[in-house]
Amino acid sequence: MKQLKSLLIILALLVAPLKAETLQEWTMEENYSGPYSNSFNKLRYEVPILMRQTMIDLSVRCGLDFQEGWRMPMIVRFVDGSPMGVENVLAYVQMGRYSDGSYAQSLNINLAAYDKEHFNFDKVFAHELVHAMLNDSMGGESNSLPTWFHEGLAVYGAGQGDQMTAAYVARYPTVNASYFINGLEGPHGALDYAEDYLAFKYIHDRHGVTSLQNLIKEVIKRKGDIPGALEYTCFENWDEFKDNARKFSEDEISRLDRQSGSRSNENKAY
Ligand SMILES: [Zn+2]
Repeated sequence: MKQLKSLLIILALLVAPLKAETLQEWTMEENYSGPYSNSFNKLRYEVPILMRQTMIDLSVRCGLDFQEGWRMPMIVRFVDGSPMGVENVLAYVQMGRYSDGSYAQSLNINLAAYDKEHFNFDKVFAHELVHAMLNDSMGGESNSLPTWFHEGLAVYGAGQGDQMTAAYVARYPTVNASYFINGLEGPHGALDYAEDYLAFKYIHDRHGVTSLQNLIKEVIKRKGDIPGALEYTCFENWDEFKDNARKFSEDEISRLDRQSGSRSNENKAY
């Protein structure tokens, strides 16, 4: 009995540090005094609704579950411009670190850009939210995730992929697939997003949405070990996965190329 009691105490001590860390709600800046107050007044009501819906969508599509809250502070801010070189002028994520080593991030909405044009704002918002969620899930150490993983999941999660791939193909109709499909790794340019996305579409189409959700969770749990997570959830080693995703992507590109080719022939006939 005494032994059992001390065993229980040891177990309790072991479990204690594993207790869930405190999660927090995202917040939104409520004040704005710049020149785009009409857009601000519209967005201050729309963003909370959009955030709720996007968080549900991303939990279903990617297994990024934030219903219970965020690990690091996450605030939506309204700004009047965007720094040079950001991915989307409409919205972008910034992450900062305090002197105690803890992280915080903001999803900044650029009202100057929104005021001019915002027809795809919901998708840009979702794309940037995926980046923020990956940052949060990795405890700020999201640089350990390769760019193709960050961007592929963001494009996939935001539902931008099919339209984006079709647009690339329509713009460069006569080039072969290798123009877009040049390997997931290596330097990242504007034309790499389609291949990054298609790697996630491959996992979805070949293995199903549950495997895709499990893969994301496993990559996070394994702190960025993508090959290990792939073997565990999709039963493919890293080289098999790269080959299969590449073949799948090349097929998708040629399918879209044929479609866009037949459309331009039709156009010529009229
Ligand atoms: Zn991105």
